[in-house]
Amino acid sequence: MSNLDLRPSPTRCGGEGSSGPVKELLTGRQVQLGESTQVRRLLPNLGRRMVGAWCFVDHYGPDDIADEPGMQVPPHPHMGLQTVSWLHEGEVLHRDSLGSLQTVRPYELGLMTSGRAISHSEESPREHARLLHGAQLWVALPEEHRHTAPAFEHHGRLPVVTAPGLRSTVIMGELDGAASPGTAYTPLVGADLALTEGAAVRLPLERDFEYAVLAMTGSIDVDGVRVEPGAMLYLGCGRTELPLLARTDSSVLLLGGEPFEERIVMWWNFIGRSGEEITQAREDWMSTPRFGEVHGYDGARLRAPELPALALKPRGRVR
Ligand code: MN
Repeated sequence: MSNLDLRPSPTRCGGEGSSGPVKELLTGRQVQLGESTQVRRLLPNLGRRMVGAWCFVDHYGPDDIADEPGMQVPPHPHMGLQTVSWLHEGEVLHRDSLGSLQTVRPYELGLMTSGRAISHSEESPREHARLLHGAQLWVALPEEHRHTAPAFEHHGRLPVVTAPGLRSTVIMGELDGAASPGTAYTPLVGADLALTEGAAVRLPLERDFEYAVLAMTGSIDVDGVRVEPGAMLYLGCGRTELPLLARTDSSVLLLGGEPFEERIVMWWNFIGRSGEEITQAREDWMSTPRFGEVHGYDGARLRAPELPALALKPRGRVR
């Protein structure tokens, strides 16, 4: 199958993925997170595993948690990835095995680089706002950085780019000349775009990146496709701009990056390159101090699930 009305991209668009613009609407599947939070999982999705190095996208809320504990995710390990916590409403208290203790609030970046091994917990503080609304994102680390030392960054102020009807907060990477202070290991972008009712904008994009847009609030057309909050539109590569039309005040997350060409194994909270590596990580979490210890969380740490009966094999960014 070929797409004839496009100039082929000179660099890494292609391979296993789409080589040009597409419009593929991804709906989330409901997943229970901890005891009390329901999330919609957009990535990995049937047929699509990654957008650039973005390899995991959960959207949650807005939920009224006034009389509930809210998010309660006990200590658990990570390997080979970064976690990006992004909130529109509420707050999440992050603790990790480095000793970090940080409340992440709306429009602040909580960025944890697992490198070879880290563990953390995420919880709504006891005193919390009525509403909780946000996204939990993972970025796969490339081979040359996946064994790096673990780190946690909190950036309370992020660069903002404005245009008529549009206010873009750069979460990761670069957009329109503005760069996030968050450490990134592959060329990518994550940005929160807020549009006022009636705004029609053409957002500049990188031709060699692939992109997706996750709708957060409002009602918006992305390149002519209505994307409801909690849904994501995969856009492919080969675009230099993206038309957005806000029917009401709306906000979306733009996720993009150079297609990630390494084959990876993603299982539970780990990303590796072989089934053996994943098996070892699971074993280490259950019975060694490799992933460190999270102090102060009121509850037991998570047990790893059983490994699947079939061997875990490396896979590309498209299923
Ligand atoms: Mn986590």
